[in-house]
Amino acid sequence: MTASAIGGRTLRLDWGTTYQVTVFDLGLACCGVEVMAALQDPRPDLEALGVTPAGGPDEAHVLVVSGTVTDVMLPAVIATYQRMPEPRYVLSVGACSNTGGPYWDSYSVTKGVDQVLPVHVAVPGCPPRPEALLEGLVALHRLVTGQERG
Ligand code: SF4
Repeated sequence: MTASAIGGRTLRLDWGTTYQVTVFDLGLACCGVEVMAALQDPRPDLEALGVTPAGGPDEAHVLVVSGTVTDVMLPAVIATYQRMPEPRYVLSVGACSNTGGPYWDSYSVTKGVDQVLPVHVAVPGCPPRPEALLEGLVALHRLVTGQERG
């Protein structure tokens, strides 16, 4: 079990079968750069929460979809999810991934990755701040463990 502080509160996170959760970022546009920066920069807060970047989807239990999802990319997005071992969760990061964002009326943009994948947590923003990724992971953890918010 690990502990970290967010928003002045102390959190204790236990991901169930392991002290760490592996996260794979499918960065498709600008939001992907933000997530990459958050995951690749050694962040004590992420490490304290037990978050480890995965080398590929085969070793990840959380898929972060960040950036503009285009219809032509959908087969690759679905294939990435299907390569992940169970249990697997999806964190949608940013307006584009959530709804199509600024490109919602484009003929080529998917109006939310939840149309093809089971999104467990959606993080708003264009782009969200790195701290929002952290809060999204905490929200996902609460969902997985059935903890009450507070
Ligand atoms: S939500 Fe904004 S920052 Fe993120 S991918 Fe779309 S346009 Fe870029």
